[in-house]
Amino acid sequence: TEELLRKSDKLAVVGQLAAGVAHEIRNPLTAIKGFVQLIAKSEGAKKEYVEIMLSELDRIELIIHEFLVLAKPQAVNYQQKNLLHLLQNIIAIVETQAIMNNVQILLTADADIPSIECEENQLKQVFINVLKNALEAMPDGGQITIFVLRADEDRVLIRFVDEGVGIPDERIPKLGEPFYTTKEKGTGLGLMISYKIINEHKGELSVSSQVNVGTTVDVVLPIDRKLK
Ligand code: ADP
Ligand code: MG
Repeated sequence: TEELLRKSDKLAVVGQLAAGVAHEIRNPLTAIKGFVQLIAKSEGAKKEYVEIMLSELDRIELIIHEFLVLAKPQAVNYQQKNLLHLLQNIIAIVETQAIMNNVQILLTADADIPSIECEENQLKQVFINVLKNALEAMPDGGQITIFVLRADEDRVLIRFVDEGVGIPDERIPKLGEPFYTTKEKGTGLGLMISYKIINEHKGELSVSSQVNVGTTVDVVLPIDRKLK
């Protein structure tokens, strides 16, 4: 639990920072991007330099976007939702990428899964993050299995099992730290956002892994967050 505390403290600080900084950066960034695009079209432009600038600007934009999502005081709207529908929806979204990566996604569920009181868009974001990580960990293809299980009377477990490269034990504590990424094009924000959203749902997100075997991400959600 010390570990959990540490993580949520950090999230609170980062959230506050994100709100201010991301917003201030976005406007000048848009202006710079516009002018770089103009330069790209002009005579004698150093095309290869300009291209690097544009792709780096895209990267900054992506990070800012993720930060704004994280920080935005969204009008949260908790509603009873069918988890299976929600997951089928998400699978459809990542399906193209899965097919390209030669990955099969399987969804299996207990029969008695009740509706969950949740912020649908935020939960979708968590599931997309987790599934994308799984896909990105499986360059040679394989299978991702999603189990939806009745954990107990009050809670549901959504378990994502991949057959990816895995995560060494000593790196597990780093997951969810801002900017922790092992990917060339990663932002290291996906899991941080996911932890934050699941915390807000009074749920728990945990990761276990074995190198070269795969990773399991468990999301436990209360059926009724008000009772928690
Ligand atoms: P990003 O995907 O941008 O790197 P995330 O916060 O989503 O940021 O993930 C952080 C890091 O955690 C990843 O770079 C990767 O090293 C590791 N990771 C997360 N999920 C998995 C997974 N399913 N398999 C292997 N590594 C993972
Ligand atoms: Mg990610």
